[in-house]
Amino acid sequence: MTFADLGLSPEVLKAVDDSGYTTPTPIQEKAIPFVLMGRDVLGTAQTGTGKTASFTLPMIDILASGQTKARMPRSLILEPTRELAAQVSENFDKYGKYSKLSMALLIGGVSFADQEAKLDRGVDVLIATPGRLLDHFERGKVLLNGVKTLVIDEADRMMDMGFIPDVERIVSLMPPLRQTLFFSATMSKDMRKLADKFLMNPKEVKVEAPSMAANTVTQGLVYVKKREKRPAIRQLLKDDAVKNSFIFCNRKKDVDILLGSLIKHGFNAGALHGDMSQSHRMETLAKFKSGEIVHLVCSDVAARGIDVSNVTHVFNFDVPIHSEDYVHRIGRTGRAGMEGHAITLTNKGDEKYLTAIYKTIGKEIPMITLEGMEEISAEGLEIDSRSKRQSNGRPPRENNSRRVRKPARSVDSEAKVEQKADSKPEVSETLPVRPAKPKKTQRPRRSRYGRDEDDTPVMGLGEHVPAFFKIEMRKSAEK
Ligand code: AMP
Repeated sequence: MTFADLGLSPEVLKAVDDSGYTTPTPIQEKAIPFVLMGRDVLGTAQTGTGKTASFTLPMIDILASGQTKARMPRSLILEPTRELAAQVSENFDKYGKYSKLSMALLIGGVSFADQEAKLDRGVDVLIATPGRLLDHFERGKVLLNGVKTLVIDEADRMMDMGFIPDVERIVSLMPPLRQTLFFSATMSKDMRKLADKFLMNPKEVKVEAPSMAANTVTQGLVYVKKREKRPAIRQLLKDDAVKNSFIFCNRKKDVDILLGSLIKHGFNAGALHGDMSQSHRMETLAKFKSGEIVHLVCSDVAARGIDVSNVTHVFNFDVPIHSEDYVHRIGRTGRAGMEGHAITLTNKGDEKYLTAIYKTIGKEIPMITLEGMEEISAEGLEIDSRSKRQSNGRPPRENNSRRVRKPARSVDSEAKVEQKADSKPEVSETLPVRPAKPKKTQRPRRSRYGRDEDDTPVMGLGEHVPAFFKIEMRKSAEK
């Protein structure tokens, strides 16, 4: 099957050709003809399957005829996170370069004025996160009764993030006669119920996570004590095979601590988490993509769904609490059939999370032993005694926690979700800084950009561990 067989226009085919794609992916093959027919589509597919093109390509053709009107977008794509919304808009730029479509991206963290100017001129495609779209609607800057094509992308993630009431409200503002494309990585009973509310006689399309990744990511587990984690990650990063990496922490405060530590030790690193301003996030991501930043320490919230090719390594500084996050995280490497490595640091207390991960991925992760463990242990002991010395010299805990409490800031849900994660018990190497609670009087912003979604392919469940480690398969891994 070729793209030409799918019924796309010569303009779109040319843009696809320029992108270097020769064959449609399964989701593209299954969905595009039905989208072009004007049918509603209920798609079960993750990111990484080519899902975005499965709706952007036919939409470009559908929107080729028709006129824009001020403040009345002709189509709407809802995404759970700013990064995903930005990625979809990049797709429209790429595939729509021979078509004359206008597009606006409505996401939090960027100026309203620019977005409003675009809406005023009239747009064919509006890509938005739910909160920011409702902000614009309430300000009278956008009307949704001209929307003829609606895409609800990453619906399960929208549900996880509590966005469904906003999505329902948005849909209620649209004409009932429209085409709706609904995509979700998983299709639970709740998800199907939700889809039933929005779709009319949909064509169901389903693709499994791409199997190509299955053998391209080698995985390993390194057992360390909590205090040894920072020296261990530095040791891992020193390996020549590590050209660049994502380093995932469960809590955003650990992102900052680890970043500080890496920079202090001379590593070229940056951070990405939900407390950063949108412009800072975009800038950091662009620097990572261009190679200006080599290691990106991040939280799940900020890094989900990010499509960066050529990432050689993923390190889990912490074992993720939710097993699906493990799959998403390791999916940042080994993309597009390339080789990738995913190494997870684990310590006592992680057992139940690891068991859940093994269940999700269908096997255990082989244990590996790091070279230089003696030095790492010594450094860990030094970190431990330093932090004990520091805390001995400090005033009692309650006073101190009050003293270090950060001023309340405007809270969007992304920060809230991370604060929730932050509140999980942990034994930190450093004095914990409690997350700031929003002031009661402060009205939380409507926009609730929360956890990023990324539903990347189920990644490599490679059997062998990287050659650059001294390997010691533990009993548990041999079962
Ligand atoms: P997505 O699932 O939409 O996030 O796409 C994942 C990656 O696959 C992106 O980097 C796309 O540019 C790429 N991609 C999409 N369609 C194709 C295709 N037909 N052939 C090769 N790569 C593709």
